[in-house]
Amino acid sequence: MRISFDLDDTLFVAEEDGFKLEPELKFPLNRIYKERLRAGTVRLMQQLRALGCEIWVYTTSFRSPLYIRSLFRCYGIRIDGIVNGARHEKEVQADHAEPMPSKYPAHYRIDLHVDDDKSVLANGQYYGFRVFQIGPPDDAWAEKIIQTVRKKIRK
Ligand SMILES: [Mg+2]
Repeated sequence: MRISFDLDDTLFVAEEDGFKLEPELKFPLNRIYKERLRAGTVRLMQQLRALGCEIWVYTTSFRSPLYIRSLFRCYGIRIDGIVNGARHEKEVQADHAEPMPSKYPAHYRIDLHVDDDKSVLANGQYYGFRVFQIGPPDDAWAEKIIQTVRKKIRK
């Protein structure tokens, strides 16, 4: 199955907000890639890979795909697909007159999207795509995602 992750406040988090973090990259990479990953991200991605999942990033930010891919590669994580703000505008919003939801994972056949934003969860219910809403600091977050994925695979 294909699973996507939001970046800001989902995988990219701040220590000031009470989050535990993955170890910082070594100099000079830590100067190029300043975002810090939520603790448990690396192991979660390895587990998802072992379960046969494709890993995508879906962000409303305009960080470039090259930047995003390279950052994750520093942690040994391969990203299969990236939808950033520019790609979403071009491919999802496209020439629709009415505003489309801020994220529309179903357009990319994404089976489960992980996001901290409750409006994305609400859009998922309205437009019919699966969202796992991730909360504030929570040591069990990765395990909860694995359980959700396992359940979905079994179906
Ligand atoms: Mg977010």
